[in-house]
Amino acid sequence: MKKEILLNPGPVNLSARVRRALLRPDLCHREPEFAELQKRIRANLLKAYNLPGKIWAAVLLTGSGTAAVEAMLTSMVPDDGHVLIIENGVYGERMTRMAEAHRIGHTRLHHAWHEPVDLGALASALAQNKFSHVAVIHHETTTGRLNPLGDIARICAGGKIPLLVDGVSSFGAEAMDFSKWNIAACAATANKCLHGAPGASLVIVNRGHLSNASATTPRTLYLDLKQYLEQQDAGSTPFTQSIQCFYALDEALREFMDRGGWEKRRQQYRRHMRIIRDGMVRIGVRPRLDADDCSCVLHAYHLPEGISYTKLHDALKKKGFVIYAGQGNLARTLFRVSAMGAITEADMRRFVAAVKSIVTSRS
Ligand SMILES: *Cc1c(COP(=O)(O)O)cnc(C)c1O
Repeated sequence: MKKEILLNPGPVNLSARVRRALLRPDLCHREPEFAELQKRIRANLLKAYNLPGKIWAAVLLTGSGTAAVEAMLTSMVPDDGHVLIIENGVYGERMTRMAEAHRIGHTRLHHAWHEPVDLGALASALAQNKFSHVAVIHHETTTGRLNPLGDIARICAGGKIPLLVDGVSSFGAEAMDFSKWNIAACAATANKCLHGAPGASLVIVNRGHLSNASATTPRTLYLDLKQYLEQQDAGSTPFTQSIQCFYALDEALREFMDRGGWEKRRQQYRRHMRIIRDGMVRIGVRPRLDADDCSCVLHAYHLPEGISYTKLHDALKKKGFVIYAGQGNLARTLFRVSAMGAITEADMRRFVAAVKSIVTSRS
């Protein structure tokens, strides 16, 4: 199969060295070699944001980003806890569905998908009710909006309310101040900004917050972070892990460090997004949000007049590029372009040329 440039928000194109790591020797997850592998990945995940291991821990899971978010919500909110869930897109609303599924006490702070978080409404919600946590999406991939975690954390600081962060599409590329923002836990995945393979995900937990949270009976068996943490600290793991994905994540993290960490990655993504955004504007394709409101990871664009998503997608795919549809109602009006993975600025320029040729040849 011909190589496709993936401009969807994960899974991403793998680099040659990460792909080769998938071919390392078969391994049993009860052997010391696995313990070493797991230990190195966990240490490097903390290193990515300079987090001291006395206070923080990386818990590794087999499953996609959603598994990590669900593990975070079910494990961090105690039986008598009550979480305020900020919704301004699909992923915020997904957290509410998780809280419903597990009967976790929660209140929604709802916004339409394109809206910024209403900080005044957040402050008054916090004044009206007692919350154990505020759950929020860092980068809301629905629209490409980067929610202002610093501002949100400042408002929560009065009541000393810790944050539960879905950092699935931002961890590894956006700034995150774990201590200053009073983050209790942050869910992330191997196959977005970290450039690993799909199948492994993780939660960065504040050790103290997790041990305080321990529900009398875990809400789920498979996603119980406390059990994973205990066993992973002891060099083990409760269940079979996706070994090959761990190999890939291990190599992806080394590559991440070699290339200078999250700040360099953010610069790289920003260059990619700038090439695409400038190119789109030149050919009359309008971005949905102001550049200042967007993450470095993904921008959403209005579909060009007279071209449906399917038509644009299929024509681009023929030219070797995979874009991503808008979710829900947005599928009719938007398309999304992400810039993660082992792709280059030259790929971005070829993408702009490909869109241009499709837009100019429309009849
Ligand atoms: C991609 C994504 C998820 C979940 O991803 P899966 O890996 O598909 O389970 C959750 N939250 C955000 C913000 C995402 O971008």
